[in-house]
Amino acid sequence: SAKAAGKGCWKHFDPQLEQRALRHRHLDAAMRVALDRGELDLHYQPQVDIVSGRVVGVEALLRWHSRDDGWISPAEIIPIAEATGFIADIGRWALLTACTNVLAWPGLTVAVNISSVHFRSAAFCTEVEEVLCRTGLAPSRLEIEITESILLEGGTEVTTNMERLRAAGVRLSLDDFGTGYSSLSYLSRFTFDKLKVDRSFVRELHVRSDVLAIFDAMNGMATALGMSVTVEGVEHEQQMQILRQRFTGSIQGFYYSKARPAREIADLIQALQARAEVERAA
Ligand code: C2E
Ligand code: MG
Ligand code: MG
Ligand code: MG
Repeated sequence: SAKAAGKGCWKHFDPQLEQRALRHRHLDAAMRVALDRGELDLHYQPQVDIVSGRVVGVEALLRWHSRDDGWISPAEIIPIAEATGFIADIGRWALLTACTNVLAWPGLTVAVNISSVHFRSAAFCTEVEEVLCRTGLAPSRLEIEITESILLEGGTEVTTNMERLRAAGVRLSLDDFGTGYSSLSYLSRFTFDKLKVDRSFVRELHVRSDVLAIFDAMNGMATALGMSVTVEGVEHEQQMQILRQRFTGSIQGFYYSKARPAREIADLIQALQARAEVERAA
């Protein structure tokens, strides 16, 4: 109890913290039920090749509409699931779901976000290999997105798992690059197929020349290291036009589409394709 822990604890008792703890416990339990009930879903956001205007891939993003609590954002539940280890169950489910769904969209890659807690586990690579075996998906169509925090935490498991996945032909992407503890030394120590430039850089791209200079440096560095580049969070045509003038990777953002349910993706790809043809003709 707080009393047993010392008198300092009484002083800092905070009803808001208590509320948060209750909410965490509630969501932790509800999430487990939701996975069993099939309430968890993946929505897919298109990734568009900036030169051709073609959809080349999709990113799978977790969505949860709870019967009792309505929409709950991944930003709220993922930290809770990480703390309890349940994130590995979500990750296994997401891998199987995403690799199954992408079979319906020929030629597209699918990117799955994997938490460091799960990525570091000894079983992770075997789980990925089993999903590929079960679905028959070509390994090169699967991208695993991890964030820099994994590299910061380090550990030999991380390097071992990265090497084993790449040897199997699975792609590795470094997500949210340029936020957090970004260190350029990571890029020479770890091998990634793709760098995902965080959307915080895109926000001011069309109004600030210093942000543009940083973007150019990141893009140049990634290219020199043999990585492809995806820019996240493109919302306005002006941002897309600026990017089109200075790089040849892919972009992802509300300008093209938010993440949509699997059943809408085939139509969405067609609509974006038609739009690209109109834009090219103009
Ligand atoms: P992320 O992997 O960087 O995903 C991109 C986030 O940016 C998504 O938020 C997406 O909806 C949002 N986004 C995309 N385009 C735009 C845009 O043009 N403007 C703005 N303002 N936002 C845009 P979402 O779906 O809320 O996911 C948030 C984060 O939660 C993700 O960031 C990822 O770190 C994590 N996450 C989502 N799904 C999963 C999952 O299945 N497993 C794990 N471990 N993490 C996940
Ligand atoms: Mg991501
Ligand atoms: Mg990201
Ligand atoms: Mg993010």
